Amino acid sequence: MEREKIELCCPAGNLPSLKAAIDNGADVVYLGFRNATNARNFEGLNFSNKDITSGIEYAHRKGKKVFVALNTFPQFEDAKIWFKSVDTVVDMGADAAIIANMGVLKYASDTYPDLRLHLSVQASSSSVESLSFYRDHFNIKRAVLPRVLNVEEIKEIKEEMGDFEIEVFGYGGLCINICGRCYLSSYITGVSCNTGGVCSPSSAVSFENEGDELKVSLGSVVLNKYSAGEVTSYPTSCKGRYYYNGNELGYPIEEPASLSVLDILPQIIGSGADSLKVEGRQRTRSYVATITGIMREAIDRYYDDPDSYYVDEKWLAETATAMEGMKTTYGPYMEK
Ligand code: SF4
Repeated sequence: MEREKIELCCPAGNLPSLKAAIDNGADVVYLGFRNATNARNFEGLNFSNKDITSGIEYAHRKGKKVFVALNTFPQFEDAKIWFKSVDTVVDMGADAAIIANMGVLKYASDTYPDLRLHLSVQASSSSVESLSFYRDHFNIKRAVLPRVLNVEEIKEIKEEMGDFEIEVFGYGGLCINICGRCYLSSYITGVSCNTGGVCSPSSAVSFENEGDELKVSLGSVVLNKYSAGEVTSYPTSCKGRYYYNGNELGYPIEEPASLSVLDILPQIIGSGADSLKVEGRQRTRSYVATITGIMREAIDRYYDDPDSYYVDEKWLAETATAMEGMKTTYGPYMEK
C-alpha cells in the first residue's frame, strides 16, 4: 500500500500568516493564544479568540487543520488559565491541542476524551519509555520530538511506537539546550522563559546604532555588534558573539545557522516520521509563505519520484535571506 505523504505543519503568529501557510501548501497550521499558555507569548504576536475561530474556519474550508499550542507550564496560582484554554480549544473546534505539562494533559484527557492531544517539544520527551508513559497515561496521539535525536534514533522510536505519530522539525531555528529546560535568558532578563516569550522576550531586546555598527542586546548583555552589511541573527543569548578564551571573539555556545532538512528529506521521510514541522511563529507572513511553499514543493517532488529527488537551486536562493547567519545545518539528524 502506498504510504501517505508526510504532513507539512507550519507556524502562524497571526491570521495573515495562517492564510499564507494554508495558501502555500501547509496541511496543518499551529498557533497559540495571546497569553502565558503559549511558549511564543510575544508582544504584538498571536491570535485573539475571534482570529483563531476565523483561522479554523478558513483552514477547514480548504480541508486543512489547525493545532493550538498550550505548551507552557502552569504555576501554582494560575493553572486555571491553562484549563480554561483547553475548554476554549474544544469550543473553537480546533483539530488538536499541543500540551507539555502533565497537569494540563490530565485535565484535557479526563475532561475531553475525544480531544486529540499532542505532546509538545517543550516536554522534552525523547525516548520510547518516556513517550509510552505520556501515551498510556494521557492518550496522546503524537509527540513533537526535541531536536536532539539523529535519524536512526527517530526511526527506532517510530518502529517501537507503531501507530503513535511522530513529528519532527524540518526547518527553522535550532535550540541546543533541552527544550523547555533552558534558563539562559532568565538569568539575563529576569523574565520567565516559560511564560514570558521563551528565550528572547521582546521587551528585553534592543537595537542601537553605534557609528557603523548595529548593537543588539538582551537586557544588559550585548549579544552582538554587526558591521554594515553583516547578516544579523535571531537575538538569543545562546547565539551571541562574545569574547572568550581571553580575548577571542566568536560564538562560544552556538553559531547562528538554520536547521534545514531539504538535502536530507529522503532520510527524514525514511525514518517513518509522520509530520514535518516548520519552526517560526514569531517570523513574518512572507517568511511563512516562502518556507511553506518550498517545503511543499520538496515533499511533493519526493513523493512524485523518490529516486530522482533533488534540491532546487531556486529553493536555496529563496531561503538565503531567511537563514540565520546565511547558513544551514542538519542539526543532530546527521553529519553535514
Ligand atoms: S536560549 Fe538558545 S538554547 Fe536556550 S531555549 Fe533559547 S534557543 Fe534554546
